[in-house]
Amino acid sequence: MLKIDKFNFKGKKAIIRVDFNVPLNEKFEVTDDTRIKAALPTIKKVINDGGIAIVMSHFGRPKGKVNPDFSLSHLRGYFEKLLGTDVQSAPDCVGSEVEEMAAALKSGEVLLLENLRFHAEEEGKAKLPEGASEEEVKAANAEMKEKQKLFSKALAGLADVYVNDAFGTAHRAHASTAIIANYFDADSKMFGFLIDSEVSNLDKVLKEAKQPFTAIMGGAKVSSKITIIENLLDKVDNLILGGGMTYTFIKARGGKVGNSLCEDDYLELAKSIEIKAKEKGVKLYLATDVLAADDFSNDANTKVMPVEQIEDGWMGLDAGPESMKMFKEVIENSSTILWNGPVGVFEMEKFAPGSRVVAEAIAAATAKGAFSLIGGGDSVACINQFGLADQVSYISTAGGALLEYLEGKELPGIKAIRG
Ligand code: AMP
Repeated sequence: MLKIDKFNFKGKKAIIRVDFNVPLNEKFEVTDDTRIKAALPTIKKVINDGGIAIVMSHFGRPKGKVNPDFSLSHLRGYFEKLLGTDVQSAPDCVGSEVEEMAAALKSGEVLLLENLRFHAEEEGKAKLPEGASEEEVKAANAEMKEKQKLFSKALAGLADVYVNDAFGTAHRAHASTAIIANYFDADSKMFGFLIDSEVSNLDKVLKEAKQPFTAIMGGAKVSSKITIIENLLDKVDNLILGGGMTYTFIKARGGKVGNSLCEDDYLELAKSIEIKAKEKGVKLYLATDVLAADDFSNDANTKVMPVEQIEDGWMGLDAGPESMKMFKEVIENSSTILWNGPVGVFEMEKFAPGSRVVAEAIAAATAKGAFSLIGGGDSVACINQFGLADQVSYISTAGGALLEYLEGKELPGIKAIRG
């Protein structure tokens, strides 16, 4: 597989899929430029080598229709400033005018294509009339598939090389994230720096983990994390389950959880996860004590209680001191650590200590040589809140794509290039 750091773009026209789906305010000003900044190393590499960068992205949800509110031209000036090079804006992403603009580009120049999602072919969802018959649905889907191929081919026709650097959309089999790759040979398609580092860091955890490997899964509900937990059971030595999902497990064991968050529909599943963990020799750690509150509020009264005896009217909102000690010890003795989801309601100061202890233990293990990966919006927010972001090995900021990768799914955008 081609590696971007080894590739020389001199004289090459590269079409680069980035994720410029950034938030804007009502004046169409960028309010968070993280995603634009994340794409810069790849774009700079292309132009610094003496290549041409044709940059494409989706932006918002215009649902296959041209909508000026979702025009990528709003970002052009901001992108230009960050990049430090002139950026031209195309009026569309395909069509004769765009082809002419792309053909006229010279070495070192950058063209920003218009929002890919102004074309329904990007996502490839067929529009179906209400009450469409099975036959009609089939025909409409087949027609859209053909149109999507033509659209992907038209995008590919603008360049010599395809670079995918949009990890955030790598779990989508869209025209620009996956299908376009069919129109490039193996020696003219590659990941950009962002996807490359996401994939290689995630693989350090999922494929090449040094033991002991500990995963800490937290967050609100077990229902949203089941597939990840099941996938991790084949890989980890220790699995710490924290946060709101604790109480579904405790209730399944016959414990009293009071008013704590609990998914009664998942009690059997919790039991089966415990059985599977035992069968696979995975040590499962659940809190033994919790900080319970009489209200879901930072002003609530709080009390430490045994996790299996939470009083009526009280709810567990953070790990208790005994549990924190246990989590800390397990984490600090690990060589590979994956953290997804806080172990308490960290947004409220009173219930942040459990997640802080986890974050600090991860930083301490990393300082001793462990590889640590933090992924998923809330644990990233946690590590930033505690000022420890620079003391862990890698922070993944991708949402859905990261979760699907952790679930063990093959992402279409990754497969399209890696095969
Ligand atoms: P998720 O999006 O599933 O990762 O959930 C993250 C959310 O879980 C955060 O907003 C936390 O406040 C919340 N959370 C963590 N622990 C608990 C708990 N014991 N009860 C209710 N919510 C929790």
